[in-house]
Amino acid sequence: MKRLFCILFPLCIYACLAAAPYSHLEEVSSPAAVRFLAQKIIEQDTLTYCISIPEEKQKNSVTADELALMLQSALREWTHGIALRIHQAGREKEFQDIMAILEKPLSLQRLSSCDLTQHPLLVKTYPDVNTAGKKADINLIFAPEYCAAFSGNINSFFVLNYKNTAPFICLSGGYANSLRPPEKGEYFPSLAQVASNGGAQKDRELVYHSPRLFEQIATGKYSRQQQQDFWRLNRLFEYDGHTFFDILVHELGHAFGLADEYVADRPRQFASLQPGQGLMREGYEPISCDEVDGMITLLDRLQNKQRSFGSFCQGRRHIVNGTEDATKYNLPTERLKKFLRTLKREQNAQKY
Ligand SMILES: [Zn+2]
Repeated sequence: MKRLFCILFPLCIYACLAAAPYSHLEEVSSPAAVRFLAQKIIEQDTLTYCISIPEEKQKNSVTADELALMLQSALREWTHGIALRIHQAGREKEFQDIMAILEKPLSLQRLSSCDLTQHPLLVKTYPDVNTAGKKADINLIFAPEYCAAFSGNINSFFVLNYKNTAPFICLSGGYANSLRPPEKGEYFPSLAQVASNGGAQKDRELVYHSPRLFEQIATGKYSRQQQQDFWRLNRLFEYDGHTFFDILVHELGHAFGLADEYVADRPRQFASLQPGQGLMREGYEPISCDEVDGMITLLDRLQNKQRSFGSFCQGRRHIVNGTEDATKYNLPTERLKKFLRTLKREQNAQKY
């Protein structure tokens, strides 16, 4: 049976405003864990990736080279970017072992083509597609028709196990390309809103020099300020939807081993009780304290490490061996049980 891990459906933006905790994908505790990127960054120095765009008409909305730059930047944000957030909180010594993994020099190698031989539906959709290629650690297929045929929805998703394919991201279309040059006189709603507080000029520079910042982030050598500028830049291109970059970062979150936060009814192991507010919940939010908690507990889990630490999110309790410590809520047992029942009910109500 195939399991898909998807980005938000537009309707869900309204349905998912209530609390949702971080959690790991269930497969993280199974032998399939070796297929997750979190396991790979513990063990490997080089990650390989490939990009396939079988639909000719899609090549104008974003190119393979642009997707490559986005993918590299997104991978840096999941590693160096998380380390920067730990550093910003002044907790790098507490997480010295985690920092060593996240800051390990990571080389990214692009393979010339993806192995598509085990994607029969893709071949059916595009009979002329060249399927020859190698299995990469990250296989990115930008093919809206294939994604729709595969999932029954027009959406993007991550697939861990399907036939003998390598794990892959199926990327649908219709997103904004935050690497493209703005058109003359183009209106950026978010940029206009800050015109009165002096930020408009900086925003304009971000928008017009977008590739430069992407390239900087892709090297993995950037500051907290550049990180904040980077997410601001992406936000400027979002309008009322997502950018390709948003989607890639979100789907890579699954490829690392994190679960969606806008769906409910997940196992309560290795999860927080308190809500998060990052991009595993709302695809247009930056990586947040929630993903920092998620990545630390994920790396611990895959290495069988025990750890108790104060959450990076305000209002969340201590996280003990991957799970938020409910006993520290200081609630009487019956009240706590009621609280957990209510939480579960609310989450079920959000399911779609
Ligand atoms: Zn998702």
